[in-house]
Amino acid sequence: MDGAGITVKLILIGDSAVGKSSLLLRFAEGSFEPSLKPTICEPGGDGGVDFKVKKMVVDGHTVQLAIWDTAGQERFRTLNPSYYRGTQGIVLVYDVTRKDTFTGLDSWLNELEIYNTKSNTVKMLVGNKTDKPDREVERREGLQFAKKRSLLFIETSAKTEDGVQHAFEELVIKILQTP
Ligand code: GDP
Repeated sequence: MDGAGITVKLILIGDSAVGKSSLLLRFAEGSFEPSLKPTICEPGGDGGVDFKVKKMVVDGHTVQLAIWDTAGQERFRTLNPSYYRGTQGIVLVYDVTRKDTFTGLDSWLNELEIYNTKSNTVKMLVGNKTDKPDREVERREGLQFAKKRSLLFIETSAKTEDGVQHAFEELVIKILQTP
């Protein structure tokens, strides 16, 4: 598959405050905000969705990534079905220092089954905030869960940048290999 000039749509999902916006900011702009404020949904707006575009060269292919962030909608535990439309890759994020965000993954996967009916969407599980000392979810637990649910898996820190570039690269490589 020739990736030159192709656009790939990715979405970020997962519980509130796990670091979705921070991962996007880190990856797309190389920065980190220690006190990132949740984006407030404007009344009459587009439902609180934000996105960034980032060009990436993977395996010699130039790929334009359009990465969508929920921008706070997930507080209501469900996302607008249009958010999932036409997506080729899904980044499902939890916080390794908050067990509840890990046990909540099943409900996100259930929602995916309902709204993302395309079988060839590539899904990646990301355990974020590995720089923090108070870990509640071990790496092997994340790995085991990902294996069981056929998800790619990686741990990251949006703060230190650890794993962030690698996560998006792996996901895009897999998407380019997927028919
Ligand atoms: P979202 O609601 O999932 O988009 O989460 P945010 O990106 O708004 O992050 C919530 C809070 O966690 C913010 O205060 C971030 O600065 C912080 N945060 C996000 N990622 C990391 C990380 O990798 N390490 C640390 N220590 N804090 C993080």
